[in-house]
This record gives sequence, structure tokens and C-alpha cells, in this order.
Amino acid sequence: MIAIKWSDYQKYGCPKCGCNSARSGNVSGRGTAFGTCRECKENFVVLSDEITRSAFGYCTGKKDSQGKDIFEYPEVQEHPRNGISCHQWVQPDPKPEYGEYWNSRGIGYDLSGFVKSKKAGERLLKMVKEVLGKDKPESWLDWREYEPEWIQFKFQGSEFDLERLDKLATENSNILTKEILTECKI
Ligand SMILES: [Zn+2]
Repeated sequence: MIAIKWSDYQKYGCPKCGCNSARSGNVSGRGTAFGTCRECKENFVVLSDEITRSAFGYCTGKKDSQGKDIFEYPEVQEHPRNGISCHQWVQPDPKPEYGEYWNSRGIGYDLSGFVKSKKAGERLLKMVKEVLGKDKPESWLDWREYEPEWIQFKFQGSEFDLERLDKLATENSNILTKEILTECKI
């Protein structure tokens, strides 16, 4: 696994493709962060500029002669794309032929479901506004900058029949349409 300097990562991005956005792994601390590129899915380690070797090892999947797992501690290396500026990550935005994907998580406090991109969430919000005839609906798009792949649209019981909406969306292969929203509007 490649280890690069934080300052290089900021300039040149992913060591393989140069994308500027990565999912952080569950191991980080002591100047070391494991990450996975959002674009090419390459795994790599980013080290703070003060250290030259990963503070944590990762399991290579290989065993030594005593049958113990072999861990590797990647050492910092020159960025393979040194001098080539990183590029912005573009989130994939798959769309059904009609309507918007919305994957229900079931009814809880409200009726929340996942959309596939920020753009898809914004289109769904627009649809909700049109159906309700409101500019500021209580149903809302939950998008957070630090979690760009965990985007939910949350329908509120004050505006929609949540049980019906949940059922119709599921029956329609997790696709919401204006017709379904209209039918479930309170
Ligand atoms: Zn990449």
C-alpha cells in the first residue's frame, strides 16, 4: 500500500488517479490516516508531514512461518503524480427513466431513505415542493459535506402518509415519482 504525505495529498490527490476525495478508513490517529479513493477505489495511507512511516500496520492477508498475520507499515514515498494537480471528485448521479431513486429505511421518527447523489436529492426536494405547493416544506434533504455518500431524504408525517409512501415506493422498485408523492400527500 502506498503512503503519501498530507501536503502532497492536498496538492495531487489520490496516488493513482489524482481525485481529491477519499473515504476515510476506520483506522486513523498518530498522524496516520487510511483512505479509499472515491473515484478509483484505491486504498492508500496519508501521513502527516512529520512522520515517515505509518503508525499502524495493515493486515496483508499473508501469514508468517508461525501462522501469524503479517502486518505492513507503509513508508512515505514520493507522490506518483507529483506535479499533476488533483482533480475534483464528481459524484455519480444515476437516474431512472422517470422519477428519482429513493431507498426507504423504513418508518422511524420520520420516513427516511437514501438518494444516490446530492443532485438527485435536490431534484427530489424540488418535486416535493411542487407537489406540496410549498417553498419550505418540513420534509427535507439531509446532506452533510463530510458524508457525501450518505444522503437521505426525510419525509415528515405532517405532510405525507408515511406508511403509504413507504409501500408505494417499495412496490415501484424504490423509485419515487410525482404521482406517488401526490397520492400520499396529506
Ligand atoms: Zn483514485
